[in-house]
Amino acid sequence: MKRSLLLLLCLAMLLAMTACKSLSDTEYHIDKSACNGCTNCSAVCPSDAIYFDSNGKAVIDQSKCTKCGDCVAVCPQNAIY
Ligand code: SF4
Ligand code: SF4
Repeated sequence: MKRSLLLLLCLAMLLAMTACKSLSDTEYHIDKSACNGCTNCSAVCPSDAIYFDSNGKAVIDQSKCTKCGDCVAVCPQNAIY
């Protein structure tokens, strides 16, 4: 009985760890139609992961982004999701 309880607990922990990992793997993207090019996001990005396209819209370089979420908090347009 104790053994199956322990097994169940391990399984639950494994599931929780998998859920956390998939959450932290979430990529951030920018809705270009909402972005006004204010540069707030690039100013706070600790990884220098945000650049601007030829239309002045912010773009996230996924290879640099550490998924910290700092840019989301400062966007006045709620354009980062
Ligand atoms: S903070 Fe928002 S509106 Fe400003 S440049 Fe970045 S994505 Fe665009
Ligand atoms: S989530 Fe963090 S690292 Fe990624 S673009 Fe936004 S501020 Fe930069």
